[in-house]
Amino acid sequence: MIGVSYPDPYAVEETLQLLKVPWEWYQPGRQYDVVLARKADLPGYTGNLIDLTDNDIFEKICELLNVGRSHLHEPLSDILLDQLRQELKKYCLLAEIPPAPWEHPYIMALTHDVDVTSVRECRLVTAGYAAFQCFTHGNIRAGFQFLLARWGIGTDPWVLFERWKTIEEELGVRSTFFFVPRKDDPGMRAHPYRAVGYGIDPGILHGLTRDGWEVGIHGIDNWVDAETGTLEMAAVGNGAVGNRTHWLLFDQESWKKLDEAGYSYDSTFGYNDDVGFRAGTLQVYRPKGTTNIRELPLHIQDLGLLGKFCWAPVDQGWEKTPCLHLDESVARVQCQVIVDYARKYGGAVTILWHYENLTPPRDWSGIYSELVKRARADGAWVTTAGKAVEWFEARRKTTLTLFQDTKKITIRIQNLNLLNEPSLQVRLYIDPSLISHVDGEYERGDNYVAIRCVQPELSVMLR
Ligand SMILES: [Zn+2]
Repeated sequence: MIGVSYPDPYAVEETLQLLKVPWEWYQPGRQYDVVLARKADLPGYTGNLIDLTDNDIFEKICELLNVGRSHLHEPLSDILLDQLRQELKKYCLLAEIPPAPWEHPYIMALTHDVDVTSVRECRLVTAGYAAFQCFTHGNIRAGFQFLLARWGIGTDPWVLFERWKTIEEELGVRSTFFFVPRKDDPGMRAHPYRAVGYGIDPGILHGLTRDGWEVGIHGIDNWVDAETGTLEMAAVGNGAVGNRTHWLLFDQESWKKLDEAGYSYDSTFGYNDDVGFRAGTLQVYRPKGTTNIRELPLHIQDLGLLGKFCWAPVDQGWEKTPCLHLDESVARVQCQVIVDYARKYGGAVTILWHYENLTPPRDWSGIYSELVKRARADGAWVTTAGKAVEWFEARRKTTLTLFQDTKKITIRIQNLNLLNEPSLQVRLYIDPSLISHVDGEYERGDNYVAIRCVQPELSVMLR
């Protein structure tokens, strides 16, 4: 058994929730394979110790998850967890429920922020800027189409829900659309450009959920005020329980406000001006000081990757901040780096592709489709934000216990939800050649076996 002694319960519980191994709080006099603690906190202890004095993994992970870092290009939390995993393996037989479903190396969560739904309804400056962009790229026809559509003439290039549905239907996936709950309101502490010109169309939202897509809230003020947060959730309706705040506005109190307002998850913690790992992780987690809300961190945003600039809050107002603005070929490589980390550590890669970026002036549909196709070819489970969060929630609710004698290892999984799809798996770090029989579906890896969790008790017979 692994024992832990540490003054911050949240930091321990969340870190070990992400690692998902059996452990307990250290009790003096009990036998442990190894104890995780700072040496000075356990003066009389003489057994195996992973000393946190100079390498405090709980503090580091807690800080990454809750404060985050700018421009972090590796999943530092997941890397630290792997270092801990390798350490623990030296002292005990280790079993974990990895952050990847059975038969899927990782998850990909697809999301779209809906900032416009038509040219006709959008602000004049938005349509004018799009037309200007088309003209400067030599796409005269598309430019005129924008100008005419603004006055209700001809086809509206930003009426795109059916096109999204067709594209994703052909890719064999579903996604989440985050809708702004009210029009013409930039929100508190916001730049006037933040207001959107469309109102909720219940028919569109109903059509999406009916056909298997998810709708969520693209919050205006829910990140600063819980009461407004509840109203914003109700305004979107259609089972929406997840949030991504418009412009990714966020402060240290936002998770608490969203939690209080009744949101199940948030997916705001990511970059506007970059791609990567703001929380250092690909996993869904519980922010400090909250009860029910989970964070599904955002990794790849189309505008951060390919856009020119975004608006960022500064002390005295707002500032234009440059985005990566990569060529598509370089952008593909950048995305692959992120996906490769998911192949290695599991977790969910969260993608944000803005609703309007299927057409000129920013036709980025090709790179989106490629990302999805490559994930499918990897065997990833590509799904909506809400379903990814639910999967992690089913994993979170379980606990593992391990019993071992000379001939048999028994793994007990409490609170296993057998309806959860795709299945969880247990990874048992043992030389596969020592195993004579496993009572279930399993696969041999390099120094471990992975067993599909379809029953609450798994037995591994040894030679
Ligand atoms: Zn937005």
